[in-house]
Amino acid sequence: MNPEKFEIKIDAAHKEIARKAREFAEREVEPVSREIHEKGVISRSLLRKAGEQGFFGICIPRELSGVGSDLLGLALMIEELSKASTSFALAILVPYLFTIPLMTFGSQQQKSKYVPKIASGKLYAAHAATEPTSGSDLAGIKTNAKRRGAEWILDGVKSFVSGAEWADYFLVLARVPDFGEDPRKQLTFFIVDREADGLDIGISDDLIGVRGIRIGYLELRGVRVPDENRVGAVGEGLKIASETYGRTRVGAAALALGAMQALLNQTINYAVKRKAFGRSIASFQATKFKLVDIFADLINVKLLVYWSARTLDESPEKLEAASLAKLRAAEMLEKAAIKAIEIHGGVGVIKKTMVERFLLDSQILKMIEGTPEIQRIIISRFLAKNLDDEAEKD
Ligand SMILES: Cc1cc2nc3c(=O)[nH]c(=O)nc-3n(C[C@H](O)[C@H](O)[C@H](O)COP(=O)(O)OP(=O)(O)OC[C@H]3O[C@@H](n4cnc5c(N)ncnc54)[C@H](O)[C@@H]3O)c2cc1C
Repeated sequence: MNPEKFEIKIDAAHKEIARKAREFAEREVEPVSREIHEKGVISRSLLRKAGEQGFFGICIPRELSGVGSDLLGLALMIEELSKASTSFALAILVPYLFTIPLMTFGSQQQKSKYVPKIASGKLYAAHAATEPTSGSDLAGIKTNAKRRGAEWILDGVKSFVSGAEWADYFLVLARVPDFGEDPRKQLTFFIVDREADGLDIGISDDLIGVRGIRIGYLELRGVRVPDENRVGAVGEGLKIASETYGRTRVGAAALALGAMQALLNQTINYAVKRKAFGRSIASFQATKFKLVDIFADLINVKLLVYWSARTLDESPEKLEAASLAKLRAAEMLEKAAIKAIEIHGGVGVIKKTMVERFLLDSQILKMIEGTPEIQRIIISRFLAKNLDDEAEKD
C-alpha cells in the first residue's frame, strides 16, 4: 500500500492546487530544503516566486487577486509544501494571519489596499499578537493604543513575530485601556507599516525547529496609526484573533501532515536499505509495526485535517474543528518523529541526516497558534456547551 496514493474526495480545482504546490515544492523548495534547515534562511526571492504561483492567495477571492479557493485548498497547498520544507510552508502560511482577518473584519478600503498585494506575494505581512508577558493569555497584553484625533498612538513590545524580517505590514494587537471596564473587550487590531516612525524591528534568538523561520520582536514607541488602519471595531480584537486562529490552525495542522508524509517516506527508504544481521531492517516485524503505527497516524491526521477544513468551509463558526486537527496533527508528528529516529538507529540522532528535524519541528508546531493545552481548553468548552445543551433538553 502506497500512502502517497491515499485519496479522499476532493474536486478538480483542489487537485490542481495540490499539483501546483507539489511541482513547485519539488522544483524550487526541495533543492534548498537542507540549506533552509542548516542555515536558517529562506530567500525573499523564493517567497516571491511562490507568490507568483498564487500560494499566498489560495482562500482569497479572485477579485482581490486571490485564487478563490477555500480552507481545503489552503490545507492541500500547505501539506504539499511542507513535505519539502515545513519552514518554507510556514513562511507561506504566516501572511494568512493578516489577510484572513482583513477579509472577515476589514473595511473595503483595507481589503483593496492590502490584500491583493499580499495575495500575489508582492508584499509580505505578519501577525503581532504575542508579547513577552502574554502568549496564551492574549487578554493580558500590555501594548497600549491611545486615541488622538483621527489617529492612534501605539506603545508596547511584541515578541515571537514570525516573518518579521520580510514583513512590509504587521497586524498588531493592542489594548485601548479607556474603552469600557472589561479588559477582554479592550483589545483592538491595527495595521502598522514597517516604515512607521517609532517602530523598531529586531530578530530574536534561533529556533530549535522550523529553522528557516526567524522570529522577531517589535518595539513600538509612540507609533502613529491612522484610524483607517484599525481592523474591526474597537474592542473586537479577541473575537478577531479567535476567528482567525480558528481558520489558520487548519494550515498549522497541514504543516504537520506534510512533515509526517516526508518522515514516513524517508524512514521507509532507510529501513529498506539498512541491513542488520544479514537482512534489511524493514523485514523485522518490530520495524514494520513502527512503520504501520506512523502510517495509521498519518492517515488519521490526513482525514482530520481535510475534515476540519471542509467543516469550516461549510460551517465557519465551528472553530473547534481546527483546534482538533492542530492538536492531534502536531502531537502525532511528535510521536511519529520519535519512532522514525528509533528506526534510523544511531543515524537518527546525527544532525546531517535530517531526521531529528521532524521532532524539533513538532515542538514548534505544538506551540504556534496556541499550545496543546489551549486547544484542549477550546475543545472542552465545545464539549461542555454540547453537554449543557443536552442537559437543557432533558
Ligand atoms: C516559532 C513560533 C512562531 C510564532 N509566531 C507567532 C506570530 O507570528 N505571531 C504571534 O502573535 N505569536 C506567535 N507565536 C507565539 C505563540 O502563539 C505563543 O508562543 C503561544 O501561544 C504560547 O504562548 P507563550 O509562549 O506565551 O506560552 P505561555 O502562555 O506562557 O504558556 C506556557 C505554558 O503554560 C501553559 N498554559 C498557559 N495558560 C494555560 C491555561 N489556561 N491552562 C493550562 N495551561 C496553560 C501553556 O500551554 C504552556 O504549556 C509564535 C511562537 C513560536 C514558538
